[in-house]
Amino acid sequence: MSEEKTEHLETQVIHSGEWRPRPEGAVVLPVYQSSTYESNGAKDYDSVRYLRLSNTPNHLVLAAKLAAIEGTEAALVMASGMAAITTSLLALVKEGEHLIAQDNLYGGTYHFLKENFSALGRRVSFFPLSEPGSWEKALRPETKAIYVESVSNPLLRIPDLQAIASFAQAKGLKSFIDNTFPSPVNFNPRSLGFSHILHSATKYLNGHSDIVAGCVMASSEEIKSVTQWLNLMGGSLDPHSCFLLHRGLKTLPLRVRWQNESAMRLAHALEDSKLVRRVIYPGLPSHPDHLRAKQWFRGYGGMMSFEFPGTAEAADGFLRELRLGMNAPSLGGVETLVTRPSQTSHAGVSAEDRRNQGISDTLIRVSVGLEHPDDLVEDFLKVLRQG
Ligand SMILES: *Cc1c(COP(=O)(O)O)cnc(C)c1O
Repeated sequence: MSEEKTEHLETQVIHSGEWRPRPEGAVVLPVYQSSTYESNGAKDYDSVRYLRLSNTPNHLVLAAKLAAIEGTEAALVMASGMAAITTSLLALVKEGEHLIAQDNLYGGTYHFLKENFSALGRRVSFFPLSEPGSWEKALRPETKAIYVESVSNPLLRIPDLQAIASFAQAKGLKSFIDNTFPSPVNFNPRSLGFSHILHSATKYLNGHSDIVAGCVMASSEEIKSVTQWLNLMGGSLDPHSCFLLHRGLKTLPLRVRWQNESAMRLAHALEDSKLVRRVIYPGLPSHPDHLRAKQWFRGYGGMMSFEFPGTAEAADGFLRELRLGMNAPSLGGVETLVTRPSQTSHAGVSAEDRRNQGISDTLIRVSVGLEHPDDLVEDFLKVLRQG
């Protein structure tokens, strides 16, 4: 599928997977708003074309493009990031098998693994992100896979990805990595040897806060197994959302590079201003995982957090007063979004666990958008000075 691997990302997002010649000469792949397709003598069920089977032209072109940008053999697009995560894990970690997962995962993923995975006959052990080598202690004879996120939310910690990928390879484990935060612009997990890559395409891949979608990238054989599950679980992406994601992908490299630069500008401006207590951004030498990001990533990303210097109520006041940053969950879109994780993404985590993880009630998370960084800096500093 991804024979264009040697081309640059900017070229892949435009050309990889596209039909040659184009259908009816259309430069942009049309939306194939059709649930079913003429059989044309199809002999078996696998050659039936039907929207739920994710084999319409919109699905296939998108999957080929996604495989190309992460450098895998194949990919599969789904109805949300959570659909991609849960369907892939259920398909590839079977009843009786064991998964080692990082603690401090995206809330939905953590909840699914902790509450639902074992009810479905799978076993899971969590290892503390901050304890090097802790994953080795969790290894069991029935361990089949390890699961990590390339960058954690909202403290933007980066696990020892190299050691984890090598461990997985040495023990013959499947290695899953949720690469949503860096996006393929800043990091390709294949470069360190991860075998299964997941994305919430809702975020940077689509980039316009107007759909939910997800995907998994892996070998053709593994994608075939996930597809069989997806066909039954039913979480296929509708053609119009495929079209929007396809369009969003074309500007991914431009958007993320601009966001990398703007986040760096805002992080420095906040740190230099002394108006906040602590700025958390992997691009700053003060970040505990700065050297890992520097070694493995091509950019430090558009996500940052900081410690507001007042009460939680004052922090909410700050969020309300911002003119450009909008107070909303989610991330990776063209507009700057701000949230207080203790009230949104981590509201389901107990106050004590939040404290242990270092997520205070006055921590503010920023998803830097595409506005001019000068305007963002002015907006943030102006409101902080008023406070
Ligand atoms: C948002 C997100 C998800 C879930 O994706 P949805 O598209 O909302 O289902 C999973 N992982 C990470 C890191 C996310 O940010």
